[in-house]
Amino acid sequence: MSIIKDFLLQLTLMILPIFTYYTFVTEWVKCRKNRLVIMSILWGISILFCMSFPVDFGDNARIELRIIPFLLGTLYGGVWSGIFLSVLIILYRLYFGISVGFYNTMLVLLFSLPVILFFQKSFAGAKKAKRVKIAVGLAFYYCLIGLTIFGILRGFTFDYLKVQSIHLLFAVVVTWFFTVLNETIREIHQLRTEMENTEKLRVISELTSVFAHEIRNPMQVTRGFLQLLNEPELPNEKKKYLQLSIEELDRANEIINDFLTFGKPTVDHNQRIDVCYQLQRVVNLLQSYSQNHNVEIKTDFMEDCWIFANPQKLNQSLINILKNAIESMPNGGMVWISCTSTEDGYIKICVKDQGIGMTKEQIDRLGSPFYSLKESGTGLGMMVSYQIVRSFKGKIQVNSEKEKGTEFIILLPRIS
Ligand code: ADP
Ligand code: MG
Repeated sequence: MSIIKDFLLQLTLMILPIFTYYTFVTEWVKCRKNRLVIMSILWGISILFCMSFPVDFGDNARIELRIIPFLLGTLYGGVWSGIFLSVLIILYRLYFGISVGFYNTMLVLLFSLPVILFFQKSFAGAKKAKRVKIAVGLAFYYCLIGLTIFGILRGFTFDYLKVQSIHLLFAVVVTWFFTVLNETIREIHQLRTEMENTEKLRVISELTSVFAHEIRNPMQVTRGFLQLLNEPELPNEKKKYLQLSIEELDRANEIINDFLTFGKPTVDHNQRIDVCYQLQRVVNLLQSYSQNHNVEIKTDFMEDCWIFANPQKLNQSLINILKNAIESMPNGGMVWISCTSTEDGYIKICVKDQGIGMTKEQIDRLGSPFYSLKESGTGLGMMVSYQIVRSFKGKIQVNSEKEKGTEFIILLPRIS
């Protein structure tokens, strides 16, 4: 019973590096070289554990499966990993004292490492099936060398041959199993990375085509007006055409600006900021805009609403939301803005209007690029706002009722 337990322990010790590597290392470590170093260390730890907790078959008959982490570490890690693992094995064996066992270890490594390294190159370039064959063949060779050298050093006995045969069989089967396991997990990971890249490319191509389309519209309109200006018989309309051209160019500029904010890499210069102070600035900025639309803005701000964010970005997202609230009331009305602190650690900003409101479907579409119901809307404001709030680890909730009004609730993590 204890033999089976010991074997199971050895198996667990070997599985750990594989799962640790694919679960954590491939996610967190992006540099290939660092990954190799970490992988070698993981295999090294596995070897040390295997050597420390061998399977006892009675007197002088101990089996341990250090061959498997050693073999897989060298095959997947390359020359330096192989040398590192060999040195580790020798040093750890030395720690147990210089005996026949030590010379045995040295000789086995001397005969097996060059052969493993010889096959490592073709292993690295091979497909799954061939890799499994190489690994199994090498495990067989290693055990055979071990068996022969041990026999020469200590003499062949029936018991010894029995134990070594079990070792050989076990090592070959386990090597086969672990190589297949490792290869399968590797394939799944590769597939996932490929899918992520395809998805990224798909989004980019979709965005660029929509973007090109959106920019072309104002360009074409402007071009038409400029062409008209060239006609000698339309002198009176000149001013109007120039004005319209400028408006269209401004629109194109706005689209480009929104896109740039959206695509900007997230090197955020975040700092401690007072949300109420920023809200007041945004309200002041939009004062004349709201007056032109006959809209009155009412504010109610609590003191000491601190968050960690980039003020420019926060203002931009607030401006987008407030502008939409103002624009939702073509005949004028009232907008309420409040800022409070919630019990679960958020700063809550509410922007409420009495505008045209939205249906459930319209709310669901908020934030998708170029979704706009306005004649001259860009449909990018909400997309940018959502992205900014998300980058501050915040949330946006929308409550709206058709013809009644809309309430935007922005929740941002509070700091003290
Ligand atoms: P744009 O304002 O350029 O149309 P946005 O992304 O800012 O683009 O908004 C997308 C759409 O969401 C708007 O066209 C509008 O239909 C709807 N919307 C946003 N905010 C409100 C609001 N407060 N009330 C009613 N509709 C809104
Ligand atoms: Mg807008």
